[in-house]
Amino acid sequence: MERSFGVRDGVLVALDSPTLVIHGGAGVEPGDLTPQEEADVRQALEAALRAGHAKLLAGSPPVEAVTAAITVLEDDPHFNAGRGAVFTHDGRNELDTSLMDGATGKAGAAAGLHRVKNPILLARAIMEHSNHVMMVGDGAEMFAKEQGIPLVNPAYFRTEKRWQALQKALQEEKNAQASRVPLVLPGKAYFGTVGALALDAQGHLAAGTSTGGMTNKRYGRVGDSPIIGAGTWADARCAVSGTGWGEFYIRNAAAHEICARVRLAGDPLAKAADDVINGVIPKQGGDGGAIALGADGSIAFPFNTGGMYRGWIGADGVPHVAIYKTDTLAMPGR
Ligand code: ASP
Repeated sequence: MERSFGVRDGVLVALDSPTLVIHGGAGVEPGDLTPQEEADVRQALEAALRAGHAKLLAGSPPVEAVTAAITVLEDDPHFNAGRGAVFTHDGRNELDTSLMDGATGKAGAAAGLHRVKNPILLARAIMEHSNHVMMVGDGAEMFAKEQGIPLVNPAYFRTEKRWQALQKALQEEKNAQASRVPLVLPGKAYFGTVGALALDAQGHLAAGTSTGGMTNKRYGRVGDSPIIGAGTWADARCAVSGTGWGEFYIRNAAAHEICARVRLAGDPLAKAADDVINGVIPKQGGDGGAIALGADGSIAFPFNTGGMYRGWIGADGVPHVAIYKTDTLAMPGR
């Protein structure tokens, strides 16, 4: 399909070609999923892509598309966000999220949530209806209540699979302590964090991320996902959502770093994303992945784990999804 481009403030922007890119977390390895789980995950990714894309086609702003896609994934128990989130060391689900609008530079974020059914909606409310960027814990939940954002009993987030993952992690920690072997983290401590990036028909970008964090995290631990610049970033030419070992993403301001390389060094988006995710982070001992979307419609999916739930949908409205590293994912033409 022919695409039209324009230049705004010196930035090449794709016009009339709404695009949505999502991830459902890095860290999945071949053999982790039953055929049924794999089919369910693919179906959920496609549903999220369609939900977000429908908003873009309807002319809604990109933040609306991002929240629509992420809400679908938060509601699906296969992902480590909303229902199905991983457990903390003390057996709770503690949720983190953030959202950024590339056109205005506005952002909203929340961390340490136990009762907000769809954390991404709270990030949006904080961005649009408060004077703040980030709120945590009880105060954030009080604000959610004031805003009419649904709260649920914390038991809503629990799934047996994630509970068993915590029991396993606790046992491994105990064994490591008993044998005085230094515990290597995070192993399988994460996967299933969700993120979405949207490019609307005017060439404006938005980015969002939502997560339960990492299995066996200490209570109060905050990862990269709710930190603007670490797990989420959007500006006039570039949007990124990360997934992986969050401490490394925070230390490198990973999402911002990718976009800064595009803006300041003029790096192509795919090179900038690959250099940070597959270069800078693994060099320090971290791992994970990210999705990146340029205002020119370029897309990148760098990751260094056995798989990353990922997908995109463009002008023709056909969702493309992939799970493992070995899967081929058709990429958009320019
Ligand atoms: N980055 C998230 C965190 O560290 C985990 C993930 O991506 O799955 O909280």
